Amino acid sequence: FDDRDGQIWLNGDMIDWRDAKVHVLTHGLHYASAVFEGERVYNGSVFKLTEHTERLHESARLMGFEIPYSVDEINAAHDVVLKANGIVDGYVRPIAWRGSEMMGVSAQKNRINLALAAWEWPSYFSPEARMAGIKLAVSDWRRPDPRCAPVHAKAAGLYMICTLSKHEAERQGFHDALMLDWRGQVAEATGANIFFLMPDGKLHTPVPDCFLDGITRRTVIDLARAAGLEVVERVIMPEDMAQASEVFLTGTAAEVTPVGQIGDLTFTPGEVTRTLIAAYDKAVGRTNDLTAAASISAA
Ligand code: PMP
Repeated sequence: FDDRDGQIWLNGDMIDWRDAKVHVLTHGLHYASAVFEGERVYNGSVFKLTEHTERLHESARLMGFEIPYSVDEINAAHDVVLKANGIVDGYVRPIAWRGSEMMGVSAQKNRINLALAAWEWPSYFSPEARMAGIKLAVSDWRRPDPRCAPVHAKAAGLYMICTLSKHEAERQGFHDALMLDWRGQVAEATGANIFFLMPDGKLHTPVPDCFLDGITRRTVIDLARAAGLEVVERVIMPEDMAQASEVFLTGTAAEVTPVGQIGDLTFTPGEVTRTLIAAYDKAVGRTNDLTAAASISAA
């Protein structure tokens, strides 16, 4: 992904994509002192930009550092990056990390760097293709206790668990993994939150007390309520999943992605999922009649 045309915003400067490099002794690389965002661009604008930028700031705070650019400055940098790369429908990856000035666990004086990269994300599938649903394997890796890590930060280190889980799922022929938390409760997929349509006719979703309360999750809860659906946030155990009639994931990259299988359980995406896909498409201002790829490869 590093060998391509384009420009990346790095600490206030626009530099060639191929030159956007860091030193091998970067603290963020050795000790995972990095936080990032994943944002989607629709018709030239980032959906929920300020929410993402504020979460980036909050993630840094939870990791014990401060990004040396304000929310307004970061938002303005997005315009520069999108224009420089001519992005209309795409993805933005802001990332902040501790630099390479000092080597060791302690890095109090290391510079906090910020970069923004953006690229086109034009892959579209038909709504019918998406409605088949993706397959999730149940991961052996668990989301950690909030006493073990800053679980509400979108922090690079927490994605170690996601990559391990996703690689294992892919080896078994699944698209993604469902992770439980340290208590054995259903938590989330590797880059998306999860919802279940239960026999009471309500949407049930796990309480986000040890994983990201996704911006898409909150958007979809609002859209569901506006459509007259009740949404219940509660503890969901793996054995509860068999009762669900529809299951879907939500995330910036995943948008609303139907799930057709979790381990041995199968589900048929239906009317509620279809309604929320349409509502989400409308909310993001998608103008064509196709629905975005059910891609959850970028968190
Ligand atoms: N959980 C994880 C682990 C994620 O990486 C993401 C994607 N950022 C989400 C949930 C969903 O968050 P959002 O809707 O804000 O993209």
